[in-house]
This record gives sequence, structure tokens and C-alpha cells, in this order.
Amino acid sequence: MNQRTERATKSGRRVGVFGGTFDPPHIGHLVAAIDAQQELDLDVVLLVVANVPWQKLGQREISSAEDRLAMVRAAVDDRPGIEVSEAEIARGGHSYTADTLAGMRADRPADDLFVILGNDAAAGFATWERHEEVAELATLVVVDRPGTPTPIDDGFDWTRIDIPELEISSTELRQRVSEGRSIDYLTPPAVVTCIAERGLYV
Ligand code: ATP
Ligand code: MG
Repeated sequence: MNQRTERATKSGRRVGVFGGTFDPPHIGHLVAAIDAQQELDLDVVLLVVANVPWQKLGQREISSAEDRLAMVRAAVDDRPGIEVSEAEIARGGHSYTADTLAGMRADRPADDLFVILGNDAAAGFATWERHEEVAELATLVVVDRPGTPTPIDDGFDWTRIDIPELEISSTELRQRVSEGRSIDYLTPPAVVTCIAERGLYV
């Protein structure tokens, strides 16, 4: 039994919680998830697909939870250590990370939880519903996205991990699809197929 398995057995798993709208998922998300997993020695990183991303309401039309879940499943495939969580979709309603973490804590009290955020999301952390509860239940991990450095709320303890800064966003992928431009290599081939089959973003 290696050290990590031994620790995991004794004290629960180390679990990364990487939430998002994932409309669509792209390699920026996947590289962040994989690097967080390796850097922090996490047993698993959960890509938690938001049911209703309430902070994005009214800004644009959001693909259905079902479509976004299918794309995230296609993106992850069976890569060990990265899993898709349907917890927020199953719960329904607006998606609050505080509820998601509370549910995980109730299910597996011994797990160590790590919430992973891009710096843009971290900058808005104080606007999250019951964010103090999030900070109590999990270690906050921030990864940088390219662009102007975004100040993050220094009222909280952030763990920063270095990842390759990939200047990719779902917004850009949606735009490219709508213009008939390729998204090959910006997201795994299975996601490209899923988008085409479901006729998304056209
Ligand atoms: P949109 O452009 O629609 O806002 P997005 O690319 O920002 O999409 P989200 O689903 O909004 O993706 O983001 C989910 C999480 O992933 C957030 O914490 C966000 O900061 C992070 N993230 C998104 N893209 C990257 C990237 N290229 N590198 C690192 N983190 C990222
Ligand atoms: Mg975003």
C-alpha cells in the first residue's frame, strides 16, 4: 500500500471540487483539474456541473444541464482521478457550492475538500451564497488565468497552484462554433462530436 492509499484509508480521501457551467468544457478546465490533482495529491477531482449557474442568469442563454453534463462526461471519458459530479443537477434549483460541500461533508465526513477556482471566479468569491461556509468546509485553491492579474479577496486563505496559463474560455468556443470556425484541439474530440450531434451554439 503506498503512502497515499494508506492515508486515504485512514482519514478519508482528498477531494478536489471544481465547479463550473462548462458550456462547453475545454482544455483550460481539464488542465487545471489535472494539475490540481497532481500538485495537491488529490485522490479525485470532481467536475461539478452547475444546474442553474445563478450568477450568469440574464447574461446569455445557457445550454441545458443535460447538454452540459453530456459534454463534461465526454470530456473526462475515463481518465483516472477526474470524475463528473451530478450532485448539483440532482439537487435542482440554483447551484450553491455551500450546499454541494455540505452534502459531501454529510456523506463522507472524513474527506478533505479542496475547492478549485480560476482567479476570475476567486475574485468574485465574496458574492457567493454563504461563502464563509465554503471557506470553512474546504481549502480554497486558485489557479491563474491569462490576462490582467485579478486581485482576489485577501480576507480568505488561498492556496495558489501554478498551471500553464491557457487563454481559452467557453465564451470563445461558443463564438467559434457560431462562426463556423473549428474548436479542434481546444476541447477533446468527443466534446467536438457531442456539440455537433446536439447542434449546440450554432
Ligand atoms: P465562460 O466564458 O462561459 O464564463 P469559462 O471558460 O470561464 O466559461 P466556466 O464554466 O465559467 O468556464 O468556469 C468554471 C471554472 O473554471 C471557473 O473557476 C473558471 O475560473 C475556471 N476556468 C475556466 N477557464 C479556465 C482556464 N482557461 N484556465 C483556468 N481556469 C479556468
Ligand atoms: Mg467563466
